[in-house]
Amino acid sequence: MRYSRSFIFTAKENPSDAEVVSHRLMLRGGYLKKTAAGIYSYLPLAHRVVRKVEAIIREEMEREGAEELLMPAVLPAELWEESGRWHKYGPELLRFADRHGRDFCMGPTHEEVITDIVRQGISSYRHLPKNLFQVQTKFRDEIRPRFGLMRGREFIMKDGYSFDADDDAAALTYEAMYRAYCNIFRRCGLQFKAVEADSGQIGGSFSHEFMVLAKSGEDGIASCTQCSYAANLEKAVNANTWQCQPQGKPEGKRAHTPGVTTIDELASFFNTEDSALVKAVAFVDSKDQVVLAFIRGDRDINPVKMERLHGDDLHPASTERLMQAGLEPGYLGPINLPQGITVYLDNSLHSLDQLICGANEAEYHITELNPGALAENGTFADIGTVVAGDHCPRCQSALEIVRGIEVGHIFRLGKIYSESMKATYLDRNGKEQLMVMGCYGIGVGRTAAAAIEQNHDDQGIVWPMAIAPYQVVICSVNPAKDEATRQAADNLYERLSSQLEVLYDDRNERPGVKFIDSELIGIPLRVTVSQKTLSQNSVELTIRRTGEKYMQPLEALDAHLR
Ligand code: ATP
Ligand code: MG
Ligand code: MG
Ligand code: MG
Repeated sequence: MRYSRSFIFTAKENPSDAEVVSHRLMLRGGYLKKTAAGIYSYLPLAHRVVRKVEAIIREEMEREGAEELLMPAVLPAELWEESGRWHKYGPELLRFADRHGRDFCMGPTHEEVITDIVRQGISSYRHLPKNLFQVQTKFRDEIRPRFGLMRGREFIMKDGYSFDADDDAAALTYEAMYRAYCNIFRRCGLQFKAVEADSGQIGGSFSHEFMVLAKSGEDGIASCTQCSYAANLEKAVNANTWQCQPQGKPEGKRAHTPGVTTIDELASFFNTEDSALVKAVAFVDSKDQVVLAFIRGDRDINPVKMERLHGDDLHPASTERLMQAGLEPGYLGPINLPQGITVYLDNSLHSLDQLICGANEAEYHITELNPGALAENGTFADIGTVVAGDHCPRCQSALEIVRGIEVGHIFRLGKIYSESMKATYLDRNGKEQLMVMGCYGIGVGRTAAAAIEQNHDDQGIVWPMAIAPYQVVICSVNPAKDEATRQAADNLYERLSSQLEVLYDDRNERPGVKFIDSELIGIPLRVTVSQKTLSQNSVELTIRRTGEKYMQPLEALDAHLR
């Protein structure tokens, strides 16, 4: 591609609304254009990266025997009613009606559609197993889209679904997908960790997230310092947090409040004398236990997690109950629930027991949440130390907390969807059986963004070769002034293009401008052609990652780059 003809427009200034490096560099490097909140156009550079990530995904999925298909993005409500998720999913599901008043949604994930397809196509054990995937645009009406491609509302996902005859076969498929995911993220040049995770909205009993380790990650990971155990804090903390044990009735509820009975004591846990800084949320966790989680409000609380907690993940029934509970506006500081609810803790309550009694009615449902979701950075560590003195469940060694970006997620779904949607087959004995399912997602844009979080420097992006939009950039120095330079660069471009993906910076710009742009865009290799290099019958080769420069004889260059 000739730069002069390309749609690449870089910017010097940092965009004001971009909080993380990947978002900033993608905007500055001319990769992205925001079309609406959380909705982006992938400009040509980004599109090339996305295609590369997708190609790697396709290869590795196919290597493990999965087959690609493409399902619709607009989905009829009926299927979602069958699975029960039409009412359960919450406001992340974008619903709308067609001209006949029939309900539809934009697909945020496709378990229902694929189960419907497979149940109609498969009737016998002889047809199993099946493993199908697609690469498709999803829509989730995220309450706070941010970080560019990392948390969009519209985003590209690879989602795959497997159907097996029994648990043993499903376990093998899960292992195969685990392998595929490791290969995919390794090939994308990422440092990642597979961690045990909660299954969230998708459901299911067992799952792993693939986390790219990065400071900007929205997820906390508890990682054992001795063995290979690693778990998302959302899951890890479940085991040992402050919990009100009894389930159901309000009487007799007591929290495990190790040594803490007053709000002042609580405040001192958070190293403050100002108890107003301590904020709390009560909710029912996935084990149906009511949990109170405390945070120090002036610390850097992850707003996305906070808003997910308060917004989309709040069960409509809980909303009502919380309102009915009439937790009076009060003193410790409000915890805002964007769906119009505010939970307040009343400063006149002097013991946590009292506090918990207020919050521990059955059906104060903020479902599928746990304290890990509340905590961020130091805040979590505080809760962790206070509450648990967390230890690895496998070897009892200390856990350390690291941050990660969830780029992929694999689930063993079991029979949840095959049961609700009646996806059955006849076994060897002619007996009807439920299919055993798994599902497997990868955020394509998020993977690209995560690669930038791990691979950048002050000058810009440093793409891993496998997913770089171009492998090589040729910069001609003053081509307008020196015809020989222009000619040599043209020839080189022709020659290299047959073997590599080449961006040819043929613009009449100062060499400094070209170098700055090529570094910002992040092309791994730069070939500089100038009067000076040509006088030695050479070009200069620069390695983006290290900045190393080599003079290369023109003739030997091809062999060297290959
Ligand atoms: P998160 O916890 O970050 O909200 P999720 O657990 O809701 O993600 P999954 O349902 O597991 O997401 O979807 C599979 C993959 O899709 C995720 O691992 C992630 O890579 C990607 N993904 C999910 N939501 C988004 C989004 N809003 N923008 C970009 N990618 C996303
Ligand atoms: Mg989500
Ligand atoms: Mg998640
Ligand atoms: Mg997930």
